[in-house]
Amino acid sequence: MMFITHISLGLLLGLIIVKSTALPVSQSLFIGAIILGSLFPDIDSATSFIGKRMKLVSLFFKHRGAIHSLPVMAACTMLFFIITGNAYYTMAFLLGYLSHLLIDSLTPMGVAWMWPSKKRIRGALRTTGIFDFLLLLFFTALDLALIVA
Ligand SMILES: [Zn+2]
Repeated sequence: MMFITHISLGLLLGLIIVKSTALPVSQSLFIGAIILGSLFPDIDSATSFIGKRMKLVSLFFKHRGAIHSLPVMAACTMLFFIITGNAYYTMAFLLGYLSHLLIDSLTPMGVAWMWPSKKRIRGALRTTGIFDFLLLLFFTALDLALIVA
């Protein structure tokens, strides 16, 4: 999916949580951590929004390989917790990461959730295809509705 679709879904999850719970941490940092998590997996793509800024990573990791998997998600989340020391922001990062893997699983390339197993969960919605744009539109509409609500 397009990076902007990942952001719009991350933002949606963040808005739902901050509007429905009393978080003892900064709401904007919480949403920021979800959005970071929702973009992070594409660090393995040299052409992605985040991968362009971290080109080295894509030399070592195949796109939609290890970094798009549950084991590496768990490792990155632990690292995030070690760096931030905050369980709430870590949960937010994890949620964003998970949302990324979920909607990437809707694409033909799919996601190897249990890497190093090569078994992939795939769908038929192409990245930058009509459904990617429709999802973007749908998530963005909900984002705006929650922002003004
Ligand atoms: Zn991805």
